[in-house]
Amino acid sequence: MGREFSAFSMRNLRVLLLAIFAGFFVVPALASAQAVFSPGSVCHTSGKLTASYTDLRADPARWVCEGSEMDWEQPRHVIRHDLRARPADQPNPQFAQFDRYDFDGLTVIVEGVDGSRASKSFAFDDVRLGSSSLLSVVDLPKIKERAAAVVMVLDGGMYPEVLVTAQLTDSLMARATAGLPHLFAALLCGLLLAPMLFDLGYFRALREPFPLFHALFCIMAFVQTAAVSGLIPLMTNLSFSTELIITYFSLDIMVAATFLFAYNFIEREHLGSWHRKLLIAIAALAIASGVMTTFLPDAFGYWIDHVYFGVYALILAGYFTVLFVAKRRGSRMAPYLIWGFAPLSAIILAQLASVYIPVLGWEFDETWPQNLALLFEVVATALAVANRFIRIRRERDQAMDEARTLGALSERDELTGLLNRRALETRYEALVADGFHAMAVVDLDHFKPINDIYGHPVGDAVIQCAADALAAGSDQDVLAFRIGGEEFLLLLRGKGAAKRAEARRRAITARTLSEMDGFDRPVTASMGFLEFGKVVGQPGIDFTALYSRADQLLYAAKCGGRNRTVEDQLEMFVPEDEDETGSTAFA
Ligand code: GH3
Ligand code: MG
Ligand code: MG
Repeated sequence: MGREFSAFSMRNLRVLLLAIFAGFFVVPALASAQAVFSPGSVCHTSGKLTASYTDLRADPARWVCEGSEMDWEQPRHVIRHDLRARPADQPNPQFAQFDRYDFDGLTVIVEGVDGSRASKSFAFDDVRLGSSSLLSVVDLPKIKERAAAVVMVLDGGMYPEVLVTAQLTDSLMARATAGLPHLFAALLCGLLLAPMLFDLGYFRALREPFPLFHALFCIMAFVQTAAVSGLIPLMTNLSFSTELIITYFSLDIMVAATFLFAYNFIEREHLGSWHRKLLIAIAALAIASGVMTTFLPDAFGYWIDHVYFGVYALILAGYFTVLFVAKRRGSRMAPYLIWGFAPLSAIILAQLASVYIPVLGWEFDETWPQNLALLFEVVATALAVANRFIRIRRERDQAMDEARTLGALSERDELTGLLNRRALETRYEALVADGFHAMAVVDLDHFKPINDIYGHPVGDAVIQCAADALAAGSDQDVLAFRIGGEEFLLLLRGKGAAKRAEARRRAITARTLSEMDGFDRPVTASMGFLEFGKVVGQPGIDFTALYSRADQLLYAAKCGGRNRTVEDQLEMFVPEDEDETGSTAFA
């Protein structure tokens, strides 16, 4: 019994000694390892790929619990979010959401308060999209115990800092939002593209470049919204790097298109050449900065964000300077652009503030504010484009009216007020279509001697009197033209055209005698009269042909002794062996 007892006590003693030994070495080690992570802390460390979390955890000196900057040279980064400060009634987090950047591997470990652990590993392609394509979501492994910490072991991560700012959530928000925001985003994309159709119409009507730049802006706003809202990765199989290029570069092209649009859109008279150059310069700067930061990010290393934001601050300052100057100079279009770009600028400024003024403690997801700001800008600028379109159309209509008035003036003969030969030629076809079917060419007889004997002014007065006689009355069926010095042409329609023309020819003599005081020389005129209604539309029968025929008749009248009319009727079918004319001479 005693031996048994002593054997028992010896075993107990050995256990006791071991326990004391362990107490001396292990417990303080554990205690110090625990002590490094204060409840609610977020700590991180970096190391080689062989460094396990358990090893790193045991080395408190390696952990940093303030700030998020990491040693980018190391291939493995371990980020530990302590959860012990969470309210007792809050369940364990189920998801981690963080900015989406490429990596080789990610292991997520959930550590229980009792030291139990569960872990899950992910390749980049296994990670779901968050509420936007710029966010990733991973499902956290589940443990029965209350979670004390979530640990993320990131290998080959492009940007490990995003795991420090990761959001741990127990709600299903991240999962549920994967549907509705995309629907809204698609709707928004449609709204962003719609003005483009109007732009193409405006461009067709005006042949000015600004609607095309507006269309480019709309397309880029569409691409940008599709990219940041997760539509591109949702609907295409593009690689992540291509998707990032689209997301970043479309923003820069869109901003450049905004400036080129302003360049072409703001009224020239309100934009100095210096400001126009500035717009081109900031458009070029936006593209250059986009190319550099998107395609050559390594050139900037850690400074990339500072370069990007710095350039944008500069660009915004330049753009608003130009817009406010144009507004002060009276531009009606500049206010639309100021208001249109204001929300997007506010978001860019807020981003700048959140990065450079950490005291503010601002942290926000700019995805949806940006989408809505883009919609606002597209709508504001589309209204501006419509407004400008209407104005330009109105100005052009006015100019057309003025041109028409001038054109009308240029169709009048100054001396007599009759329509001139040019007016006759442009209207001839329409008049024939209106039923004018007869033409009379009238030339004053022996007019040269009048000029010679009485002088040119008296000659002018005679021409005026002759014109009045030919155009007298309100007969809508007779039109008089002055087609040369003292040569006139009448177009007639309706019955008795020959007689009505003849009466007017004769009226010249009476009119000059009655209207010109002290001028007693009878002025006569000869006339060639031609009925052509029946040949209208026949090949070769145009104004020149008819006029030359009428002129032949006039010549015949002159040769026949003057102060007479020679008339002809052109028939539809003139048999070759019959006499072509039915000429009659009025003495
Ligand atoms: P004919 O009977 O053969 O027609 O003889 P004519 O003397 O009238 O000859 P013609 O028709 O060739 O003469 C036209 C003259 O009209 C020549 C030109 O000096 C004169 N004339 C042309 N335009 C004007 C004008 O606007 N005012 C005046 N006063 N004379 C003009
Ligand atoms: Mg004459
Ligand atoms: Mg003449």
